[in-house]
Amino acid sequence: MVGAHVPWLELDVFVSDLRIKKPYLQIWPGIERNPISIASIDALLEQECVVVERPLNLLLGTIEYSKIVLQTGLDPYERDKTLFHELAHLHHPVLLCLGDSYSYFSEREQLQREAITEWLGRKARADPTLLRHAVLSFGLEPHVYDQASYKAFNDMVKQPASPFIDNVLLMD
Ligand SMILES: [Zn+2]
Repeated sequence: MVGAHVPWLELDVFVSDLRIKKPYLQIWPGIERNPISIASIDALLEQECVVVERPLNLLLGTIEYSKIVLQTGLDPYERDKTLFHELAHLHHPVLLCLGDSYSYFSEREQLQREAITEWLGRKARADPTLLRHAVLSFGLEPHVYDQASYKAFNDMVKQPASPFIDNVLLMD
């Protein structure tokens, strides 16, 4: 069920159920204690984390050392959602990354970690302050396509024709 296209409600229920079934996982206190924040984005920038866009096979985004690679040509919401998914991985590398050193996780556990990463990323993207800070700090072009992005970039991006865009928060 995991992935960029899972409906938010389904993802939220999956993560809530997992929390009930596996309350002992280190992930839960880890993400509570140390949420994605302006400071954590700044810390990544200080470590010279950069974002590049280039064609990828199959993936929407990936991490190469301290580089976030986003698929070229993603629509604005997809791009920002993918950016925050990768930021969630980088912010919680021990908890949520799936690199070679963590391959002892079963496939099922890896899928659960991917779901939590996606869940964290979508929540962080919906925060206008984090969205603005991440997009501008990584030198990406800001776009307005929903309520969060409207609040984030209303002063910079010319308001598109759609009149209700600032009422709809995209989470799916
Ligand atoms: Zn991932």
